[in-house]
Amino acid sequence: MGYDYDDQNVFAKILRGEIPNTTVLETDHSLAFRDINAQAPEHVLVIPKGPYVCFDHFAAEASAEEIVDFTRTIGDVAQALKVDLGYGGDGYRLLSNTGAHGVQEVPHLHIHLVAGRPLGRMLCRDQP
Ligand code: 5GP
Repeated sequence: MGYDYDDQNVFAKILRGEIPNTTVLETDHSLAFRDINAQAPEHVLVIPKGPYVCFDHFAAEASAEEIVDFTRTIGDVAQALKVDLGYGGDGYRLLSNTGAHGVQEVPHLHIHLVAGRPLGRMLCRDQP
């Protein structure tokens, strides 16, 4: 088993500068940019620069420095958008689709930060 990273995925191309993006924040280890198909008034994707397929890959193999940087970048994006509770913002939702059941389309770890309107329940309740 193990993780098989495809370096031709669209976020790898964004990191290499082969596809443009609208950057919100960039650090040594992380990049935050606007989703091309926003699902809410604010929809930002936060990705590590390292080649991690998904969250469990990142949790298992990323360095402490990368994990701290990624976590802080997510918080900094919330601050930049003025939706963080520390600022008195209205909040947001974080989610990370993983694998087939998570319906992950791009096989490079990304956290969706969505905000800007009430987001409703997390999941439909018509199925267990
Ligand atoms: P997933 O379903 O893998 O969690 O989400 C992938 C996300 O990437 C989708 O929300 C989709 O709109 C976004 N996306 C796909 N291709 C591009 C792209 O080329 N640029 C940007 N900024 N977002 C993209």
